[in-house]
Amino acid sequence: MILVLNVGSSTIKYKIFEGEVEIESGLIDRIGDKPVFYHNGQKESVKVDNHEEGIRFIKKYFETKNFPIKAIGHRVVHGLDVTESKLINVNVLEKIERASPLAPLHNPPELAVIKACNSFGVPQIAVFDTAFHQSMLPVAYTYALPREIIEKYSIRRYGFHGISHMFVSFNEPGRVISCHLGNGASIAAIKNGRCVDTSMGLTPLEGLVMGTRTGDLDPGIILFLLNQGFSPHELDKMFNEKSGLLGLSMESNDIRELVASDRAEAKLAIDVFIYRLVKYIGAYISVLGGLDQLIFTGGIGENEWRIRKRVVESLSYLGAELEEKRNFSNQEIISSETSKVLVKVKKTNEELMIAREVYRILGDSVKNSY
Ligand code: ADP
Repeated sequence: MILVLNVGSSTIKYKIFEGEVEIESGLIDRIGDKPVFYHNGQKESVKVDNHEEGIRFIKKYFETKNFPIKAIGHRVVHGLDVTESKLINVNVLEKIERASPLAPLHNPPELAVIKACNSFGVPQIAVFDTAFHQSMLPVAYTYALPREIIEKYSIRRYGFHGISHMFVSFNEPGRVISCHLGNGASIAAIKNGRCVDTSMGLTPLEGLVMGTRTGDLDPGIILFLLNQGFSPHELDKMFNEKSGLLGLSMESNDIRELVASDRAEAKLAIDVFIYRLVKYIGAYISVLGGLDQLIFTGGIGENEWRIRKRVVESLSYLGAELEEKRNFSNQEIISSETSKVLVKVKKTNEELMIAREVYRILGDSVKNSY
């Protein structure tokens, strides 16, 4: 059995796999502030003041369940220039630490969790959200800032959601565009399995309109608002937590509520969301020199047929065509037989992708407990 961990600033999510089968999943939520442990449909209050205590808690819990953990896979948000998953050693720990200023809410707790997991005494693998995008060429990842600033601060487009983009595009040949549309949203242009471009940048703020994030902005807006007296901290909160679908609609970041609303603000929020996505798809079709396959994933991509319909209809100039019934019922292939572009809905599973990386690196010996 292997353990897969996905850590946030106040959460530890886990999944246990036997081979590719998920045995159990759970979550410690609100670490440090009335923490709650969810597992097997149950919910209990626990005393967990920090991430190290969280790991001690789940380790004890696994012992009561007799889970023989043979390896651990960690989702790590930022890995700077690391191009693939790594067996964790001091060099990898140092890399995660060096990337911390670029992912201050994620890398430090991930580092603390990795160190706490040494107590399991098993090999640990880091799977980076940025690694899949490292195949981008300088022309795609370079911002037009003064060179000395770029070099001094390692400023470039890194991209995120890489584990999800890798999972849904795995073994898909040709020119593929993957749309990860969840609360966070990003899009990737992929050629024969290698990422060519992606919409998130130095941070996850760039690109598509998201649940609460702005996506692309004129940098002049930031300067303008600073001059109006907003502090960097206030702008950080505004751009990450109060913008996007929520900010525009003044109602919700949940697309289901906006689709059901008849307020003009909700309608405009959805229109801007779709317009930005269609614009990126158009740009990536140019970058790829055409399109063989469009993939939708994430909570919105997997479930919201109306959004998919409008996006695919905007590609009718390419000969993309939907099979309406299949789209309505979230089938895996939603394009018609005569469509010039294959359109798919794929349920993302970042934890399974991490488990596969653990097996790839450590070999099948960790796959079965017997
Ligand atoms: P995260 O990025 O936090 O992992 P998800 O990928 O779960 O988020 O996506 C969350 C969003 O997906 C929700 O805000 C909601 O808008 C949308 N969503 C989730 N389930 C559905 C559904 N059944 N129908 C339509 N939209 C959904």
